Amino acid sequence: MEQAATRISGGTDLGERILLDKGDDELHRLANAYNAMLERLEKSFEAEKRFTSDASHELRTPMSVIMAQVELTLDKDRTPEEYRNALRVIRRQGGRMNSLINSMLDYTRLEQSAERYPFTPLNLSEICESISADMKLIRRNNIELQYDIAAGIFINGNKLLLERALQNLIDNAYKYGKENGHIFVRLKKNENIISLSVKDDGNGIAEDDRELVFDRFFRSDKSRSRENGAVSGNGLGLSMVKKIAEMHGGSIKLECPKDGGCVFTISLLSTSSMQKH
Ligand code: ADP
Repeated sequence: MEQAATRISGGTDLGERILLDKGDDELHRLANAYNAMLERLEKSFEAEKRFTSDASHELRTPMSVIMAQVELTLDKDRTPEEYRNALRVIRRQGGRMNSLINSMLDYTRLEQSAERYPFTPLNLSEICESISADMKLIRRNNIELQYDIAAGIFINGNKLLLERALQNLIDNAYKYGKENGHIFVRLKKNENIISLSVKDDGNGIAEDDRELVFDRFFRSDKSRSRENGAVSGNGLGLSMVKKIAEMHGGSIKLECPKDGGCVFTISLLSTSSMQKH
């Protein structure tokens, strides 16, 4: 065991484990605990590596466009209009990088410093009602938002994060919804399970993509491709919503009804002691 531990601490391979024959004495339990710790470290290390590589990949595209545009423009003398056009491209791509960096910072903060987001007793009904009322005013693409919020649902949580989660889901429903469509926000409680759902009647999500939408940086080909009228975004929104649900001891699921559209539902646990607040 000592040799294995020394090898692991001195090397870079977190995949190594302490191998012992079967047994249930103190040494075996120690080895198992040690292996479980390595397993966790390896997983979070891999996730960090993936995040850094995905993030660099995402930033590389706008950066390459900016560099290509600058090179092309400096190639020869241009008219003022051509210079203006080049600057517009650079501004657009710079804006993309900016929003990507901001989202990445938000995401890392969420991952690494949960203590920044203290929990307090909250009236979730009031929060959902006011976000829905405010976002109803957006009416992008003439989409109509309706809501049905059960009163008096309380939870112990972080207001900022819960607001952000709901805003993100509604924002997506507008972004990916269809012209003259509908969004339906519902908050209800059954026994002690609270569910907060956002339903739209847009194009829905292809079956193959449904499992991937909560992954960081995932965007469906359709959302990315310019020909189909690319929608702005960076693929971090839903992974953030999922993280927020999990930080509150809950989960998120996606359903795509047969008649089209999507329903995202956050499930949270309410305890009777919380209802007193
Ligand atoms: P973003 O919107 O920035 O691309 P998200 O993480 O919020 O990132 O969403 C990931 C992807 O999931 C989107 O790019 C889109 O392809 C798909 N998606 C999310 N919400 C919806 C929705 N309501 N309807 C259809 N597709 C959606």
